[in-house]
Amino acid sequence: MRVLIADDSPVSRHVLESTLTKWGYEVISTCDGEQAWEILQQPDSPRLAILDWMMPGHTGPEVCKLLRARNREPYSYILLLTSRGLKEDLIEGMTSGADDYLAKPFDQQELQVRLRAGRRIVELQDELLKTREALRIRATHDSLTGLKNRGMILERLCAEMARSSREHTPCGLLILDIDRFKLINDTAGHAAGDAVLRELARRFQESMRPYDAIGRYGGEEFLIILPGCDSVNTVKQAERFRRLIGETAVSYNNTELTVTASFGATSWMPGYLPEVLVQTADEALYKAKNSGRNRVEFLLPTNKTQDELVGTAH
Ligand code: GH3
Ligand code: MG
Ligand code: MG
Repeated sequence: MRVLIADDSPVSRHVLESTLTKWGYEVISTCDGEQAWEILQQPDSPRLAILDWMMPGHTGPEVCKLLRARNREPYSYILLLTSRGLKEDLIEGMTSGADDYLAKPFDQQELQVRLRAGRRIVELQDELLKTREALRIRATHDSLTGLKNRGMILERLCAEMARSSREHTPCGLLILDIDRFKLINDTAGHAAGDAVLRELARRFQESMRPYDAIGRYGGEEFLIILPGCDSVNTVKQAERFRRLIGETAVSYNNTELTVTASFGATSWMPGYLPEVLVQTADEALYKAKNSGRNRVEFLLPTNKTQDELVGTAH
């Protein structure tokens, strides 16, 4: 584990450096508070810091205050080291946000156990952050495909609609539904169906722009948000996705599964709520299914087809 040492006394710094290195810590050291603060602000800063009280630049307690005011994760554990041994000093030091306090000259064994305690806190917090992140992913993503789940993709849609509204930019929306998916399950088995869903999700993700978003909307339905795409580009993208599915069969257990999907497409218009947009894309999808599947249908929230829209524009 890396430890930051900030101490303006060369002797004290040297003792700390050699002691901590002997104990297996990777030491980063500095002689002033300003540099210590700079190091602690770096993205991959040391999680344990031993700060002297009196230093040029910032004092130890000042660095503590700055760090705690930033309230950034992950947490850095701070041990203040000082020759000021009064109870008031201890209170002041701890109030500034230090986690522990040790009087100089320090006892090696005492420093060792206190550092161990700090290390435990840091490691516990790492575990906690990992668990929290895993829970967040589980709550927001679909476990089969790894894509955003329904709630998450709808949340994203609301955010993109708000952005379109604010910046007057277009935004496309696609709902796609795999054709005759029940047949794939019935003939090749449910596991094959799962493999198809996973493979299509992989293909979509691989071919999307970084700012597009995709989510699993239902069983074999996906929702794709295309920020910046007007109606013409939305249809173009939908056609591209359609080919991405249909042109290459999905291999599963030495079987080649031919898969197609139908697409309902729409494009954001000022004043229309996200729910209306989803409903419109859904209606377009219904139309694509009824018109023979493996195709893209486009509807505007006002329920005009793209041809009609182009017609009115001329
Ligand atoms: P259509 O072209 O009209 O969409 O026909 P379809 O067979 O795709 O539609 P239908 O709604 O009749 O069937 C959808 C099937 O999708 C039924 C359901 O068992 C299957 N399905 C939903 N979720 C999953 C899943 O996670 N894994 C697998 N293997 N199948 C799923
Ligand atoms: Mg289907
Ligand atoms: Mg369906």
